[in-house]
Amino acid sequence: MSIPFAEKTIDLDSRVARFLEKGPKELFIGGEFVPSVSGKTFETVNPSTGEVITSVFEADKEDVDKAVDVAEKVFYNEWSKVPSNERGKLLWRLADLIEEHLEPLAQLESLDNGKPITHARTIDLPLVIDHFRYYAGWATKVHGEVIENSSGPEMLTYTRREPIGVVGQIIPWNFPMLMLSWKMGAALATGNVLVFKTAEQTPLTALYLADLINEAGFPPGVVNILSGFGETAGEAIVKHPRIRKIAFTGSTAVGKHIQRQAADNLKRLSLELGGKSPNIIFSDADLTKAIPGSMVAIFFNMGQACTAGSRLFIHKKIYDNVLADMSAAAKDMQVGMGLNETTDIGPLVSDEQFKRVNRFLEEGHAAGAETLIGGQPIDRSGYYIPPTIFADVDREMSISREEIFGPVLAATPFEDEDDLTDIIRRANDTEYGLAAGVWTTDLSKAHRVAHKIEAGTIWVNDYNALDAAVPFGGYKQSGYGREMGAQALDLYTQVKSVWVNLT
Ligand code: NAP
Ligand code: MG
Repeated sequence: MSIPFAEKTIDLDSRVARFLEKGPKELFIGGEFVPSVSGKTFETVNPSTGEVITSVFEADKEDVDKAVDVAEKVFYNEWSKVPSNERGKLLWRLADLIEEHLEPLAQLESLDNGKPITHARTIDLPLVIDHFRYYAGWATKVHGEVIENSSGPEMLTYTRREPIGVVGQIIPWNFPMLMLSWKMGAALATGNVLVFKTAEQTPLTALYLADLINEAGFPPGVVNILSGFGETAGEAIVKHPRIRKIAFTGSTAVGKHIQRQAADNLKRLSLELGGKSPNIIFSDADLTKAIPGSMVAIFFNMGQACTAGSRLFIHKKIYDNVLADMSAAAKDMQVGMGLNETTDIGPLVSDEQFKRVNRFLEEGHAAGAETLIGGQPIDRSGYYIPPTIFADVDREMSISREEIFGPVLAATPFEDEDDLTDIIRRANDTEYGLAAGVWTTDLSKAHRVAHKIEAGTIWVNDYNALDAAVPFGGYKQSGYGREMGAQALDLYTQVKSVWVNLT
């Protein structure tokens, strides 16, 4: 198969060039850019070419200790005295600054992660800006209650919703800026201070943002940003006795490990983990929506999305037609460098991820799944895997059970029409429960299915829609805690009851 490849890249914004001019990039601790205590650095690679972009300082335990000390000090001495409307203004100002720097941030995100520049510009960054503005609004709306009690009017009881203090936040590489905003928005609106670790593959945009955090006027030390590895800096954050809460997004395996580590000092945890989400197309679906929607479900961000609709169930009446149309649409997708404006499918984020996805392709072939399109890596520098559709996938195959985190779809037919028992059982036949898609024009069926699927987000006649106001998180082994919406405020506050005897 010949694959159209988009090679020509855009010219870099002068602000990106300036940012990258001098390396290695430093850690952001106490409002300053500082080298790591060890002086060690690591390289970050452009997945579109496999070339090194720059190097960054590598944080380890000593740097985490430093960041916690600074954060704790500013929490008690300064940040806890900043009124809520000021916190709201700071968040709003940060959103404005991100908007001013949208182009360099989008370019840097595409360069470091490989995602298509058009997606970074029109999806990732606008969602980030909205997210900060949404939580800027919440800063002034978090409050306790006065509670009537059985002791009578002489006893005043009320609650306060207080911040937790030093919070550790750890994110993956698939949506570096968006995941950062999901972590920082609610935590800052509620008055916490942060020790934040980026993913080793994508440290750059958060460091660019650090300058904007200073410019917005946050007191130095409220936000600390560390580049580094999970096994060292990540572990140190998870084990630090004075970090009282961890918010983690990443794989289920690391999430379980973090839960074990956090048991020793009973840290609060919120975990956004992996998925193997079912996407169901009923025979009465509007296929003009269901087909492009199901393409987005699996191929958006090269399938490197925790919500990826990677198990596609298609009613047998329309199975062949839908797969033929999806294969034709996949063939038209332009694979290319992230920084090319015509690219639909960029590279995977890293050589490691490329090898991992290839292993799944080989397992799919070996298990006898039918390959409708794709199925082989692209032989060129960078980490390219074309959109791949496997048909007639058996539930026991690894491509049907494990999270691939690549542009690989496992499709299967189903027969239910009115009795939905079998399709619901199959949709729920996974340890994950992050998201699901349902395509039907039958309103009653849509709701019945939506209620029975065990997942934190259900999209009906849509897929991957997100909004800062709508809670997001997992069922089962996809984690717990809800980010976004009012629910995220619960992750970052603790309730204190105050009793006042008025006699
Ligand atoms: P990962 O290996 O779990 O890494 C996620 C983050 O955890 C990285 O910053 C990583 O550092 C760090 N980490 C690794 N080991 C650690 C440890 N022992 N202690 C503390 N931190 C540690 O995940 P990934 O492979 O980078 O990302 C893909 C996964 O994330 C997928 O499974 C996907 O489903 C999931 N995800 C979930 C959501 C959601 O909202 N539910 C969103 C996006 C992604 P390093 O960078 O050094 O590895
Ligand atoms: Mg990793």
